Amino acid sequence: MREGGAREVHLRITCPPIVSPCFYGVDTPTKQELIASTHRVEEIRQFLGADSLGYLSLDNLRQAVGDTQGRYCLACYTSNYPTVVQERLIALRNRE
Ligand code: SF4
Repeated sequence: MREGGAREVHLRITCPPIVSPCFYGVDTPTKQELIASTHRVEEIRQFLGADSLGYLSLDNLRQAVGDTQGRYCLACYTSNYPTVVQERLIALRNRE
């Protein structure tokens, strides 16, 4: 974008930082490959070379999707999986 003439680059992400893989059907990379699992937002901003970087907060995501009772899966943002299946899958994926 800068090469195209942008003087500033401000990046906004419409979800919280993804810190853990999904084991329920979304093809996400391993935890080691997810930059937000090991880096803070400021570090990610520097890596991307953006002037600013902002993510949607977990509370605002819940509000946006109407999860008023906290019942929706948010595991890729929190690492708190709603089932025990994930433990076996994590072990399998760690062998890759
Ligand atoms: S919220 Fe749950 S089901 Fe949806 S992508 Fe994240 S881990 Fe997978």
